[in-house]
Amino acid sequence: MIIIFVGPPGSGKGTQATRLAKQLKLCFISTGDMLREAVSKSSVLGLKAKSFMDKGGLVPDNEVISMIKERVTQKDCTNGFILDGFPRNSIQAKALDKAMLEINKGVDKVIYLDVSHDVVLDRNSHRRICRNCRATFHLKYAPPKIANKCDDCGGEIYQRSDDQPETITKRFQVYLEQTSSLKDYYQDRLINIDGNRPMEIIEQNIKENFKTGHND
Ligand code: AMP
Repeated sequence: MIIIFVGPPGSGKGTQATRLAKQLKLCFISTGDMLREAVSKSSVLGLKAKSFMDKGGLVPDNEVISMIKERVTQKDCTNGFILDGFPRNSIQAKALDKAMLEINKGVDKVIYLDVSHDVVLDRNSHRRICRNCRATFHLKYAPPKIANKCDDCGGEIYQRSDDQPETITKRFQVYLEQTSSLKDYYQDRLINIDGNRPMEIIEQNIKENFKTGHND
């Protein structure tokens, strides 16, 4: 089973993809997380990716495609995986199709989280993340019980450097220009979800849609 989450930054892709991966016992892969790790390690990829990420643009396709091809052929992906943040344009989508065809697999479902710019701004600018376990908090709606400490593991909570208002708006524009058309590319496998609603309701909706395969 191969599932892709598509949606603007702040649509809740990461949260929902993690929950679904746990439920379906599939490997969860986030290209954003992989790239941030590369940046924090100052690897060759990280050094290349940093300037694109800081500006809210996309990291060059060839870098991200090689990274993902290498990742999905690892052992923990044998039974399937859920992708968060990849593909981000039609070049990446075609590269994924080609790579999957080579191993007799294909993308089964694409969950499309539709979210407005206002909601994206609100979610991303108040988003805080645990450095240790990556749990996500929202300063207004789901703040940590103790300031700057993760409820789950006690780790330090931080704000992503690209979660500043100008960069959020830039990322949203990049999404509209390059990523949103994937809705058409995957139309035969698409599950449309209204992502403006609370996380728990969206999760329930995904589960239902997932069981029946019907659209929202
Ligand atoms: P995300 O955590 O998915 O919001 O990704 C954070 C940043 O990582 C993006 O703004 C891009 O700069 C970069 N990135 C993540 N996934 C991709 C991808 N598939 N293609 C190009 N850049 C990506």
